[in-house]
Amino acid sequence: MSSKRYLITPGPTPIPPVVAAAAATPMQHHRSPEFRALLLETLDRLKQVFATENDLVLFTGSGTAAMESSVANLLSPGDRVVVASAGNFGQRWVKLVRAYGIEPVLVEQPWGERLDAARIAGAASEAETAAVVVTHSETSTGVVHDVEAIAAAVAPTGAILVVDAVSSLGGVELATDAWGVDVVVSGSQKALMSPPGLAFASVSERAWGRAGRSTLPRYYLDWRLAADSQVKGDTAFTPAVSIVVALRTALDLILARGPASVWEHNRLLARATRAGVKGLGLELFSPDDDSAAMVTALLMPDGIDGQECYTVLRDRHGIVLAGGHGPLRGRIMRIGHMGYMNEFDIVTALAGLEMALGELGHTPPVPGGGVAAATALFAAQPVPVDG
Ligand code: PMP
Repeated sequence: MSSKRYLITPGPTPIPPVVAAAAATPMQHHRSPEFRALLLETLDRLKQVFATENDLVLFTGSGTAAMESSVANLLSPGDRVVVASAGNFGQRWVKLVRAYGIEPVLVEQPWGERLDAARIAGAASEAETAAVVVTHSETSTGVVHDVEAIAAAVAPTGAILVVDAVSSLGGVELATDAWGVDVVVSGSQKALMSPPGLAFASVSERAWGRAGRSTLPRYYLDWRLAADSQVKGDTAFTPAVSIVVALRTALDLILARGPASVWEHNRLLARATRAGVKGLGLELFSPDDDSAAMVTALLMPDGIDGQECYTVLRDRHGIVLAGGHGPLRGRIMRIGHMGYMNEFDIVTALAGLEMALGELGHTPPVPGGGVAAATALFAAQPVPVDG
């Protein structure tokens, strides 16, 4: 068994050493002038990554806390909510909305398909609809849904559009204001290359209007409580101070590089991953195009259990990829290529997959074919050095 670990998952993702070092600096008090300044700077930088001038609230909690905050702040009993789902994280919205006593109108598609903007808008226009809820990067399938098209289609219905960008924000384009997305929720541990533990929601004027009228119960996740404190650099409760410090450093790295350059980097890693998967003689489950920039999902060959492959990779080789959720458990494996990753993460994932599959009795057609295809692509389209 290997004690060295290679984290090549769709989250949490590896964090740059300077971000880890920032998290390890001496604890500071959250009601100090230094921390207030730091929080305000962090929120300001986050807004740049969200491409928004809307208010942005931060919670200590994982991404799901920000998802839950949207439900609790926007809705009232009896509201009509359209949830579009084609994967595990779409289903999370369904469960969340039900947990608050509302039965959502479902626009479902098979896991792995793209959400259909016209169907979503059709469902939202059938009756007065409070909110439409969608996922941007469906981490369970590798599909990045077309939020720009969904936002354009939903706009005429007047419903508030809520987007789960937990595994997309910072990694692919999400033009919150330009596309007219009312609420975007995300978390610290994926493309933002920070430790898990912070959640964010951007809130448009229209969304604030609805939040002011909504009657579902909320306390810790109350947007108003959070925003009123955070505008002054305060927080309503003790925040995860060390993660804020780390995130501030990570955001500086992202903004210094430029978001568009980060997106291009992810697209390149994804392209090489797809080439490598095919070079291994395996089939892609996620789309075979540049839209699938965050996660590549591949189908297991017949007779090989993805969970077993996952375990062999992790326990024998120290390589942590991700398996499948729900109906895809055992059938697919997922390679994350977001955040602090570079070409050697991809090469390691492909080499490890070949070895683990071999140990499970499946020999790829060409020895080293996955790595060869990926490195050929990197040679033709080099990844910028400080990726
Ligand atoms: N939505 C998506 C698209 C995700 O990928 C995840 C995390 N895998 C979540 C929501 C949930 O985030 P968390 O685990 O941080 O609560």
